[in-house]
Amino acid sequence: MLKLKYIHATSTILSSPIEYLKGVGPQRADLLKKELGIFTFQDLLDHFPYRHIDRTRVSLVSDIGLHTDHIQVAGVLVNVDVTGDKRTKRLTAQIKDKSGFLELTWFQGISWVQKMLQPGQTYLVYGRVGFFQNRPQIVHPELELLNQQQPDAKSWLEPVYPTTEKLKVRGLGGRQIAKLTQVLMSMLKERDLSENIPADITRQVKLVDRFTAYSQIHFPPDPEAFSRAVSRLKFEELFIAQLRMNLLRSSRHRFSKGVVFDKVGDTFNTFYKEYLPFDLTGAQKRVMKEIRADTARGRQMNRLLQGDVGSGKTIVALLTILLAIDNGYQACLMAPTEILARQHYATIQDLLEKMEVPVMLLTGSTRSANRKKILKDLKEGELKILIGTHAVIEDVVQFSNLGIVIIDEQHRFGVAQRARLWKKAVVPPHVLVMTATPIPRTLAMTAYGDLDYSVIDELPPGRQPITTVHRNETQRSKVMTFLRAEIDKGRQVYIIFPLIEESDKLDYENLMRGYETVKGYFPEPKYWISMVHGRQPSAQKELNMKRFVEGDTQIMVSTTVIEVGVNVPNATVMVIESAEKFGLSQLHQLRGRVGRGAEKSYCIFLTGSNLGNDARERIKIMVSTSDGFAIAEKDLELRGPGDIEGTRQSGALDFKLANIVLDRPLLEMARNLALTVLEADPELVSADNLQLKKFLIESKGHLTWSKIS
Ligand code: ADP
Ligand code: MG
Repeated sequence: MLKLKYIHATSTILSSPIEYLKGVGPQRADLLKKELGIFTFQDLLDHFPYRHIDRTRVSLVSDIGLHTDHIQVAGVLVNVDVTGDKRTKRLTAQIKDKSGFLELTWFQGISWVQKMLQPGQTYLVYGRVGFFQNRPQIVHPELELLNQQQPDAKSWLEPVYPTTEKLKVRGLGGRQIAKLTQVLMSMLKERDLSENIPADITRQVKLVDRFTAYSQIHFPPDPEAFSRAVSRLKFEELFIAQLRMNLLRSSRHRFSKGVVFDKVGDTFNTFYKEYLPFDLTGAQKRVMKEIRADTARGRQMNRLLQGDVGSGKTIVALLTILLAIDNGYQACLMAPTEILARQHYATIQDLLEKMEVPVMLLTGSTRSANRKKILKDLKEGELKILIGTHAVIEDVVQFSNLGIVIIDEQHRFGVAQRARLWKKAVVPPHVLVMTATPIPRTLAMTAYGDLDYSVIDELPPGRQPITTVHRNETQRSKVMTFLRAEIDKGRQVYIIFPLIEESDKLDYENLMRGYETVKGYFPEPKYWISMVHGRQPSAQKELNMKRFVEGDTQIMVSTTVIEVGVNVPNATVMVIESAEKFGLSQLHQLRGRVGRGAEKSYCIFLTGSNLGNDARERIKIMVSTSDGFAIAEKDLELRGPGDIEGTRQSGALDFKLANIVLDRPLLEMARNLALTVLEADPELVSADNLQLKKFLIESKGHLTWSKIS
């Protein structure tokens, strides 16, 4: 990526092992490594305080009002007491200042805290104020002995560091970490923390220099200096991450070889002109153009295709497959579940019915005679399209000339699994990853910034909005009456039960009970019910699914195994039982199973009547909007980025300071500036970018996310 030739990575003082810092030594070093992941001087410098104690702002107990949030008071510790037993056991104490008493309470670590407390001494106390029986109290306060000799901090704002109980016991509490950091800071010269961001940008964004930022994030002279230091370091973090990601992408663009799809031939044209059952939407056309441009130029395509549920990704996949075939290559379409793979197979077989293009399905349950034939045809190049589950990545599956791999709902596939697919061809095949999980823009540019990105942001014409309502348990029979009316009109309905973990016994029993209840409301032979869940043998699953798809059953009782991809346009009602147990994006995926045909569709969330705040909020959002991207943004806000599916292990979101939700404006600025820099100087060879390049090389960074190539 970057040429190392002219720049020698030098070891700096900051890469010194932490045991060499004065006051640390081998034993404490071990603890710092184990407990806080601090291995080097740099790591200690990057261990940022989570708050500062402002010695100038000590309130009186009597200042506490109903709206006081956090408070810092100073006073004598009195009345330390342990009450209750086992479950209700708690430690209480009071802080007494000249204006009154403030209650302190601990529920955990009671014996340890009790040992530490010294009644009669003066403490500085900080914490969130709560009210218990109308009296203010702080639960698990931060306490600090206020002895005569104050620490020799130069600033008024004293840093407080995250630490652990173990470290505290071994004399490495927040206070001692502050001491160590101070020792380290005093050893450093400006050049040890020299500027890595080009001067233009530091001027434009008004960033304080790097040395000042590090020194003042730990020991700020005043709150303003602290926030300047934080923004500088956040910006740096985001800017560097964006640079790395875009360098990765552009180097892939320049150096990766790929098979060339430069012809549009008979297969594609015949299908397009004669058998395509509808006109493509504008968005579908645009994406096809992007894919064609990408696959024609001799480098490997790595493209993420996002399109909300029902936006029509399957047809884009098929057209891409036909393009590969016209250029003499084979194609593979991979789906996360057997149900989905079968459905893709059925859809594509249907669409290609009048054409002579061999398509086969390979899953875990493919019979061995059939499997043998598939493997043989594949290897000899007779078979052009292979559709399947993860069974297609097994080593025995060998292609003659694989040109493209399309992965539906990629977040269910691991990186290692994907890597095995690329090994199936000499030149790595093109890769198109399709997902209906709407990834908010911020997240996409952070987590998947090294992929090319297409989006289908338009639904096929004629879709009616889905009416979504929230009903509670007591309204169940009304809901069932509504279902009956829809079914009697010839429609089909889904009733979904939570089964988050397929092995969860309780949920399983709920599902079975639910099934019996539904059967009670909808007796045979007038009504027929399909049931699908993760514990069924796949043949049974498939049969049930098939009966529903073909309209032999009117009701599908299921768990989330049908969550992605299933397409039954005649189904118009989706009931979600215990909807409070589902996450936002899951609810959105589920709702996307209806509203796929010409008839008006409904989605009904059934919940208990006592909902927690979060659950209530989620349902409210779902009722108020059907925009997948808006929902994903909310999801990100409610759960935080660490929890978004598919990004959990990516490492891409592990920022020390920046938060991609809260710091979005900064992220966007950092991204734009990184792109500007690279556009002007793609290999960072200009003098202005020398320091930056040196930094990128020396700090290898944590580029561990899923690199799809
Ligand atoms: P998803 O993006 O969720 O995978 P599908 O590919 O399953 O969506 O498409 C959903 C439905 O929309 C299918 O029934 C499909 O035939 C239909 N569809 C796709 N594209 C169009 C279009 N351009 N015009 C009309 N219907 C379309
Ligand atoms: Mg799909």
